[in-house]
Amino acid sequence: MKQTKEFEKNYLEHLRHSASHLLAAAVLDLWPNAKNAIGPAVENGFYYDFDFGKTKISEADFPNIEQKMQELVKSWNSIQVKNVTQDQAKKNFADNPYKQELIEEFSQEGKQLTTYTSGNFTDLCRGGHVENPSQMLKYVKLLSVAGAYWRGDEKNTMLTRIYGTAFPTKAGLDYYLWQMEEGKKRDHRKLGQQLDLFVIHEDIGKGLPLLTPKGTIIRNEILKYERELERESGFQEVWTPHIAKSDLYKRTGHWDHYREVMYAPFGIEDETYVLKPMNCPHHYMIYASRPRSYKDLPMRLSEPGTCYRYEKSGELGGLVRVRALTIDDSHILMREDQIDAEFGLCINLILKMFLSFGLKEYWVRLSLNDPADHIKYIADPKTWEKAGKKLEDIVKSHKLKVELATGEASFYGPKIDFMVNDAIGRQWQMSTLQLDLFMAERLNLEYTDVDGTKKHPVILHRGLTGSLERTIGLLIEHYAGAFPVWLSPVQAIVIPISDQQSVYAQKIHQKLRQERFRVDLDARSLSMQKRIREAELQKIPYMLIVGDREAKSGTIALRARGEKDEGTLKLSEFIGRLSKEVTTKQV
Ligand SMILES: [Zn+2]
Ligand SMILES: [Zn+2]
Repeated sequence: MKQTKEFEKNYLEHLRHSASHLLAAAVLDLWPNAKNAIGPAVENGFYYDFDFGKTKISEADFPNIEQKMQELVKSWNSIQVKNVTQDQAKKNFADNPYKQELIEEFSQEGKQLTTYTSGNFTDLCRGGHVENPSQMLKYVKLLSVAGAYWRGDEKNTMLTRIYGTAFPTKAGLDYYLWQMEEGKKRDHRKLGQQLDLFVIHEDIGKGLPLLTPKGTIIRNEILKYERELERESGFQEVWTPHIAKSDLYKRTGHWDHYREVMYAPFGIEDETYVLKPMNCPHHYMIYASRPRSYKDLPMRLSEPGTCYRYEKSGELGGLVRVRALTIDDSHILMREDQIDAEFGLCINLILKMFLSFGLKEYWVRLSLNDPADHIKYIADPKTWEKAGKKLEDIVKSHKLKVELATGEASFYGPKIDFMVNDAIGRQWQMSTLQLDLFMAERLNLEYTDVDGTKKHPVILHRGLTGSLERTIGLLIEHYAGAFPVWLSPVQAIVIPISDQQSVYAQKIHQKLRQERFRVDLDARSLSMQKRIREAELQKIPYMLIVGDREAKSGTIALRARGEKDEGTLKLSEFIGRLSKEVTTKQV
């Protein structure tokens, strides 16, 4: 199964990269003076960057380009590869400064240059195509246009990037296009604004979202739930500051392997500090603050810890990619014979949490090191192999659907990342479990074993959702802003039909507050229909409409989100129903 998934992924990549060739061929056919730069496959599709000179290209040109692509692909029965020398390559792409630069660079790196030709179109390329584009490239769609600096450097020319996607089947393409449309409606940046959940303010800075009172309720509800889960399972919460001496990160290896993600160090008196990029070292120092014995293990320290990571502004997006992220983190320090049990505990915790969030589809990505990458990883092949093997066994014994990702491990160990599908089938990265056989030895963390000898504990790094910010973004999109009652910032709203019921409405409002529900009262002198419509737009789960009849009989007319009339209820009945939905986390 692992192989099938890998194979499918490669095939899609080849298909989409071939589609980028086809796009370039069509563009050059229509705009002979355009210069094509690079055209890779990316997640969910492909792009190609062009220099159109003074010509402006927009989505209005897509039908034209797509028609040309369909026309050209008919004669693309193969993609022919040819080895070329530097001189030949330079001659082939004589009027293209971008290719000239690449040829120069690849030659200097000692790479064999290759060109790939289909029909009349030849590109400088290192390969990765489908064999017969005329048969395979049938379901291609151009999606959007954006500006992109050559090589991502703002000192360079601004190129025009055309994005597209390709699928092996029509059904696959249609489903993807539907997802994109539906995704736009659910965009958490748009809904976050509309429902007043978070703010990104230019005076604060990019990638630094501010949670409003409503957004903070969602965050706190998630944390409250996670704390309950952790308490049941024997985790102990800690709190640690957001900065630490930079020397500590030199000892942990972050300085060597993780520095590009860290912000510049700063001085306090005569010492140098950094913003923490991870919570681990702080937790280790709590462990190291006392002598530990085998009886103290496993020690499960947890903290919703905010970390600061250098993300390029082009990669930031709403809550999903931020510069200050809160990891619902834990570090479990344990004996080697406890690895299976502790991973089992964490896997159960994660799967239970997915259920409460209404996330039904999930699988894991097993991320291993790339033994050839000496910059990214601590060099110790034996330990890597042992840790990787261990995680493979764990994934197998828990019967988790798995995809392998070589070179995606953390610098200190392999990991199991949990991926989920949202309500419209899009993938999101969630929880992470990382096995660390290095750090305890590096930092000389110890415990006294049963025989009196000193040993290093093994460490399990656990991110329950991984990033609270991303999780809020995911949940906004998953529920399209219509949160289940337990997560809703406002769970119910009381709407009196007219002023005459305002005293009764206040009484109900007060009573529900005393029962600790999040309830609003809308007694404005607007028409009832208007107030109901607004509550619908705010996606409040319940509206309690009260008129004279309700006031006299001590009841409420209940209306559930989505125009569902639920009839007349006694207030106590409604309270019972709400309590049940909250405590069972009904989705
Ligand atoms: Zn290619
Ligand atoms: Zn960690």
